[in-house]
Amino acid sequence: VPFDDRDGWIWMDGAMVPWRDAKLHVLSHALHYASAVFEGERCYGGHIFKLREHTERLIASAKILGFDLPWSAEEIDAACNATLAANNLTDAYLRPIAWRGPEEMGVAAKHTKVHMAIACWEWGAYFGVEQRMAGVRLSMAPWKRPHPDTAPTASKAAGLYMIGTLSKHAAMDAGYDDALMLDWKGDVAEATGANVFLVIDGEIHTPKPDNFLDGITRRTVMGLARTRQMKVVERIIPESDLARATEVFLCGTAAEVTPVREIAGRTYTPGEITRTLMTDYSALVHMSPDDVAKRAA
Ligand code: PMP
Repeated sequence: VPFDDRDGWIWMDGAMVPWRDAKLHVLSHALHYASAVFEGERCYGGHIFKLREHTERLIASAKILGFDLPWSAEEIDAACNATLAANNLTDAYLRPIAWRGPEEMGVAAKHTKVHMAIACWEWGAYFGVEQRMAGVRLSMAPWKRPHPDTAPTASKAAGLYMIGTLSKHAAMDAGYDDALMLDWKGDVAEATGANVFLVIDGEIHTPKPDNFLDGITRRTVMGLARTRQMKVVERIIPESDLARATEVFLCGTAAEVTPVREIAGRTYTPGEITRTLMTDYSALVHMSPDDVAKRAA
């Protein structure tokens, strides 16, 4: 079903709008100049996992692109929960997005109004049920993550997904599930919508997020690993280290923890560490915030 032709409600600029009416004008600045930032969140059993972290990242992403959201973090959190309630969903994916409107056309956008919408829908396994268990196959992306001086790489900005879509399409055309992106120097960065971890000599290695998104799931998984006394190393990871890894997995809000079984012809067997972190992550996201607080205390 196309995303513009569904039943339900979308929160838009402070009001709950019937799904099919949540439209914007073709001369919106964001459509022409990519002045948009967004989030991807998951709700489990009625609780949006790490809601405040996502809301704060949305506000920070907008600030990096030079605009302030006309809503406070409290208001955005409440709007996310209201959107779920309006759609009668307790287990869903949420997509808040903020963008510059049509009030001005041209590169300059200082006088545009900042708009915001929140949609939610049911979304099962990001890569499909079979891949979630058996693992995904990645190709090497034809595009490199840009140097942080050449793009606002710390923002979850719509424009940064241009090379993601191109890389993912190239992967799919070659029969893969997704692409692994290197950065401009040729070091391992991330997949097109998830961060990457490698198990090397029984330790967990993940690239330092200096030119790609510092995922909320990534930080959660590092915490879970440390709770289990696993050693976690954040460092620059050269492409050649892919040959040293015994397990590889991806993680992200949509992807959760997903094993990788191949990267461009090199195969991996999802092992003990990947399985343990998949189980721990699943248990954590399904806990209520009260249970999480009790566990931390
Ligand atoms: N990298 C990219 C490019 C992404 O789109 C995502 C998903 N938002 C991630 C990493 C993982 O981020 P998070 O764990 O915060 O969802």
